[in-house]
Amino acid sequence: MTELEKMNDQMLQEHYSALVHRYEEFQAQKLKLNMSRGIPSLDQLNLASGLLDCLTQTDYKAADGTDCRNYGGVDGIPEAKQLFSQVLEASPNEIIIGGNSSLSLMYDLIARAMLLGLPDSETPWVKLPQVKFLCPSPGYDRHFAICEHLGIEMIPINYQHDGPDMTQVEQLVAADSSIKGIWCVPKHSNPTGITYSDAVVKRLAAMPVKAPDFRIFWDNAYTVHHLTDTPPRLLNILDECKQAGNPDRVLVFGSTSKVSFAGSGIAVLASSETNISWFKKHLSIQTIGPDKLNQLRHVRFFNDLAGIEAHMRKHAAIIKPKFDLAIAIMETELGGQNLASWSKPQGGYFISVNTLPGCAKKIVAKTAAAGVVLTPAGATFPYGKDPKDNNIRLAPTFPPLAELKQAMELFTLCIQLISVEQELEKRAL
Ligand code: PMP
Repeated sequence: MTELEKMNDQMLQEHYSALVHRYEEFQAQKLKLNMSRGIPSLDQLNLASGLLDCLTQTDYKAADGTDCRNYGGVDGIPEAKQLFSQVLEASPNEIIIGGNSSLSLMYDLIARAMLLGLPDSETPWVKLPQVKFLCPSPGYDRHFAICEHLGIEMIPINYQHDGPDMTQVEQLVAADSSIKGIWCVPKHSNPTGITYSDAVVKRLAAMPVKAPDFRIFWDNAYTVHHLTDTPPRLLNILDECKQAGNPDRVLVFGSTSKVSFAGSGIAVLASSETNISWFKKHLSIQTIGPDKLNQLRHVRFFNDLAGIEAHMRKHAAIIKPKFDLAIAIMETELGGQNLASWSKPQGGYFISVNTLPGCAKKIVAKTAAAGVVLTPAGATFPYGKDPKDNNIRLAPTFPPLAELKQAMELFTLCIQLISVEQELEKRAL
């Protein structure tokens, strides 16, 4: 039962008037704030300024003598493969270094599967009557956008505290050969913040699937993005797939977008040697080579995994206070009222808020009408359709603390306001 339901009609009306008054005060401030996307703040970007001048006019050769200024090296320079093999826990020959965006690696991979088929496809996916992907939700809106754009049907899967509902997943993939993939953000997930348990990873690696060319799209975007000194450990799915006799099942993606520069990082794909050589073959038709100077810069700047981890602790020092502030404001303004619940992530970039059913869209609109833009309600579900209309994704990293405080105070006020309006409607007041 919510605290609102316990109020008598008069108390509820008075409470509503007080909230409306506070909302009007916010409107008068004419705020113009944006918390819609997980963007690194200026301070975070400045941490990597050294990337801009860590090469010199004579330092442009990779360890194997490759001139990084020239064409070639389609799969990446050896030392970059070495560095990111540590990050993604794969061997260097299971790695391809891409351009600056892991999302474009994902898009390209699926587009190729559609157009040409994967190594174990019987036919290009586009020739099939239907292609479907499982979409654990709430999830990453841009994954869902790729499917929608390419005409892939999305099947929402519920998230549990430790990963997708595996019973649901196992039943579906065992029965339907048109299910070709599942999206997973396995660590500090976007937006729920959860990390998959060992049991979930093992079940994904070993489950029987009907489609011979089924793939797990393992978007490990937040693998080194911790907010605590005791981060959760994620089982190595490449190893688990090998052990289960399904070595080609998983495609692991990562990038330094939220490590170095969001627009000029390094993207990585790790997978079985079969998948990697297939990808390399197709990549060499698409490009004569990636930006190897950027790869060299990243190697010079970070050196090794320990260098990346030390750098990520500096990120945490900047963004942890933002997560703490956002959560503290929700606890102060909403605690004990049963109007909303929220994740307390140990890493990643988001806080996932669940409101009362049927309220999320109205809350986001109300917050926007007073000058704070949030991720559109529904975006965390396939086709933008949140069946309960109750999930809102918060991205607290970009705004400075003072602005975040204003935005969160307004957001929590709007949660209360819309919840009261719903209660008033229910009572037909
Ligand atoms: N995957 C996830 C889960 C993300 O949250 C993001 C960024 N918001 C990306 C991928 C984008 O990665 P990139 O910048 O490497 O394309």
